[in-house]
Amino acid sequence: MLSQVVELIENKKNFGITTHVKPDGDGVGSSLGLCWLLRSLGKSAEVIVRGEIPPSYRSLPGAEEIRDVETLDKAYDAVFVIECSDLERPGIKGLDRQLTVNIDHHATSEHFGSINWIDSTASAVGEMIYNLCKAIGGRVTREIAECVYMALVTDTGSFHFPNTTERTLKVASELVKAGADPASISEAVYNNYPWSRIELMRQVLGTVKRHGPGRVASMRQTLEMREKAAAIDGDNNGFVNIPLAAREVLAVVYMREVGDNVYRVSLRSKGSINVAKVAEKFGGGGHKNAAGLRVEGEWDVMEAELVAAVDEAVEKSLKKSSLEITESPDPA
Ligand code: 5GP
Ligand code: MN
Repeated sequence: MLSQVVELIENKKNFGITTHVKPDGDGVGSSLGLCWLLRSLGKSAEVIVRGEIPPSYRSLPGAEEIRDVETLDKAYDAVFVIECSDLERPGIKGLDRQLTVNIDHHATSEHFGSINWIDSTASAVGEMIYNLCKAIGGRVTREIAECVYMALVTDTGSFHFPNTTERTLKVASELVKAGADPASISEAVYNNYPWSRIELMRQVLGTVKRHGPGRVASMRQTLEMREKAAAIDGDNNGFVNIPLAAREVLAVVYMREVGDNVYRVSLRSKGSINVAKVAEKFGGGGHKNAAGLRVEGEWDVMEAELVAAVDEAVEKSLKKSSLEITESPDPA
């Protein structure tokens, strides 16, 4: 919990920080934000990530110093592991020999750390880093503000996903006050893709369809599409949300081929429809309205299974809300 994290930082000197492979804005922003916080407290800290940092996040202060590490090559007093469901997610060997601090906002996270600070009410880990900064008596520097704002803006879909709370907006406001520039950060994320994104989008949207009563939409992305578009990792960020723009669509299943009969799947839903529960059934996890998993099998069969499971979740939520309407007492 938070008090243990504060105590650890106060008592130790030399920290590593890591996040999951193919990091998103929360992963990179929170890691760098924490790094700047630790340095501002006079500690030694560095961010290590396996693989490349997506272009959208390379303009953040400190991003150029992030080291690509496959096997831990030095000892730290502790390593912070940001936004990871387990100790395999960073893809760095040797982490199991370190004192680790698990910081996450996913309720499904395993408690793999020596210290585990999980806050599923936080919109992003970035919000937790801000809380940590306040709890430890740190000053929100411009660097911390820019990195943490990036985490918030990406994980809340520019403050329009249901995880956006009064607290999120209050923190965002403090970050802007401390020097984060919302327009330039959004520009760096949303208007900074290579043209390959548009080529890939055209192909993926070409596969979109609705199933059964039309409440669930699905989309496919093949390896061939990626190749034809000359796509890079991250080009498909946010594709999964596009079908949700239709009033009729209440949930989306987006399958991406990653190998022979192997797919990464993203699930999205509106309102009280819980796709995290669906993802968990298939060995994945995530949040109520945004979850993911990995499946193996024949494409049509797996898609049908996933669509059926998601449609069942839609049905459950519609039934529940109609029950609530019929059961609510007549207004006097
Ligand atoms: P995305 O669809 O953007 O990849 O993931 C949506 C959410 O689901 C994220 O919060 C992510 O952490 C979670 N998620 C995605 N894939 C997996 C998975 O394989 N296992 C678990 N536990 N969570 C996942
Ligand atoms: Mn996050």
